[in-house]
Amino acid sequence: MAKENEKSSPETQAASPPRIGIYICRCGGNISDVVRVEEVAAAARELPGVVVAKVETFLCSDPGQQTITEDIRKENLDRVAVACCSPSLHELTFRGAIARGGLNPYLYEHVNIREQCSWAHPHDRAGATSKATRLIAAGAGKLARAKPLEQIRLPNHRRALVVGGGPAGMKAAAELAGFGIPVLLVERETRLGGWLNHVDRVFPSEEPARELLARLEADVRGSSRVEVLLGAEVTAVSGFIGNFQATISGALGPAGSPIAVSATVGVIVMATGFEPYVPAEGEYLYRQSSRVVTMPEFLELMRQQPLGIPRLRFDGRDVRRVAFIHCVGSRQVDGVNAPQPDGKINAYCSRTCCTTTLQQAIEVRKRFPETAVFDFYQDIRTYGRGHEDYYLQASQSGVTFFRFAGDEPPAIESVEHGKNGGFPLAISVKDSLTWGEELRLEADLVVLATGMMANAHSRGIIEMLKLPTGDDRFLQEIHPKLRPVETALNGVLLAGSAQGPMPLHESLATAGAAAARAAALLRGDAVEVQPFVAAVDATRCEGAGLCVEECEYEGAIALVEQAVEGQTVRRAQVNPGLCSGCGACVAVCPQGAIELNGWRIDQYEAMIDGLVESVPEAAALTR
Ligand SMILES: Cc1cc2nc3c(=O)[nH]c(=O)nc-3n(C[C@H](O)[C@H](O)[C@H](O)COP(=O)(O)OP(=O)(O)OC[C@H]3O[C@@H](n4cnc5c(N)ncnc54)[C@H](O)[C@@H]3O)c2cc1C
Repeated sequence: MAKENEKSSPETQAASPPRIGIYICRCGGNISDVVRVEEVAAAARELPGVVVAKVETFLCSDPGQQTITEDIRKENLDRVAVACCSPSLHELTFRGAIARGGLNPYLYEHVNIREQCSWAHPHDRAGATSKATRLIAAGAGKLARAKPLEQIRLPNHRRALVVGGGPAGMKAAAELAGFGIPVLLVERETRLGGWLNHVDRVFPSEEPARELLARLEADVRGSSRVEVLLGAEVTAVSGFIGNFQATISGALGPAGSPIAVSATVGVIVMATGFEPYVPAEGEYLYRQSSRVVTMPEFLELMRQQPLGIPRLRFDGRDVRRVAFIHCVGSRQVDGVNAPQPDGKINAYCSRTCCTTTLQQAIEVRKRFPETAVFDFYQDIRTYGRGHEDYYLQASQSGVTFFRFAGDEPPAIESVEHGKNGGFPLAISVKDSLTWGEELRLEADLVVLATGMMANAHSRGIIEMLKLPTGDDRFLQEIHPKLRPVETALNGVLLAGSAQGPMPLHESLATAGAAAARAAALLRGDAVEVQPFVAAVDATRCEGAGLCVEECEYEGAIALVEQAVEGQTVRRAQVNPGLCSGCGACVAVCPQGAIELNGWRIDQYEAMIDGLVESVPEAAALTR
């Protein structure tokens, strides 16, 4: 049996014939109700190099992990595969477990037999069992050829760039400063505060927005660690985690004239927020009737109303009836709503408009008792704590509700006799609250509860950093539960509504999370990143440069001059900080001189062999 220190040495782990342990999880029945796990384990025991193949109920639990670490010692295992759920859930858990068992954490293979087998084929036990067997054989083949790897250490600049000075950006900057990290806060407007500048009182606390803003701004301005640049935008950015270079233009210098600032930062927090949806001309008569306004326009109108008048005033006239229409620009339906300029519809819910609408409806009833309020909704989605009270209050204050289906939104028309003192607008709706009755109601003013769109002003920096966005165009996190504020680009974090529609308390919570994650990344002199990047074999590289042409990540691979046997030659060199591990360079190298750490070509070949060879006859498993 090898000694402990021999086992943990990368060289030893790579050199000897493999001793593989395979662990198959029942996942409390999630897997074993469909996949015949004992049969899968029996097949796994026959695979080359496999010493142990066991079935456990919950491998991710402490006792489950302990089984693995104990076996590593008892059975002298030098590699481990776990067949269980998705790697995004527990790959890191098991890498940690095998590291505790004394192995290099990259001598590990994660095989997904839950999402890919039992959940994908719940009515085909034989097929799911056969597929699990093959996937495990593929994983074992790849694992047998795995080499120990080490995390890559990159130098770390202990400074953060926060882009966007709305509530989320301010919160992130103040928290980072609290962790002792210098921050550059860049805001494109000439004042901090973002959308909060347009809000009077914030739901659900009904606190004046300006007071909340003042507190957030005081935290930022009160810290000597935060440098605020207003009227400024990031015009160039490059680099990688620990070492991003940003150029910021348009910032106002002490003399009031614009200056360009260059900064090197270790992390970037994207807090670029949202922008309100602007209806197309003619959508609900918007821009065709001056009496159809958006919610932001209505908030401004409410601010300008004098005190103590019985009716809301608009355009010099009393508003006897105001109608709010929910879901304008949100929860759009294909074939019903016209697509946006990019060809997509906004299928998502904007998550703040229902509460804002009810808040304003109540406000109208409270301040202008002679103005009647109609509310046309699809669903009332007042989902936050205390938000449902607005619905109750609105009902009690006399707001009349009408409910429409998403594919049958209300229609608005201008009414001629409006000129003679009648109502200028009519709203027709098929009301599901009265079992589909077709109603026509007249009003003086229609307010469109417009939703949120991804902020178009963030597009430049998103393109420069190649940040992933979702189908809704908002910035995309790696995993909504496990890595909710991280992006696929290491070192770029998300704060607030840049990530998707959310109310203030969520925007501030994500900003706090982003700041905490950023502080963790910036805590040492070096940052550690996963080793799955391209590696060049300089003895085979002939400097053809096809890899450089093919690479999408600027600076990730370059030809550099090297001295070989007294001659100066050009060879490809990878910058591990910029390499995404996509493998495009591997495919084009005529000499086969580039491989991807952890995903080498011979490992792929072994996987294919495992897939096609592992199960003697699928029919043998079918009963
Ligand atoms: C009509 C309406 C009313 C609302 N009322 C409430 C309420 O009462 N209670 C509540 O909880 N929530 C409310 N919300 C939601 C709330 O406004 C958001 O949760 C909050 O503003 C999100 O903060 P943020 O910092 O993420 O984004 P934002 O407030 O949008 O701030 C983003 C900032 O980033 C800046 N920026 C954008 N791009 C760049 C760039 N490239 N470079 C530099 N700066 C950039 C913008 O100028 C802006 O200042 C309301 C929303 C709407 C639409």
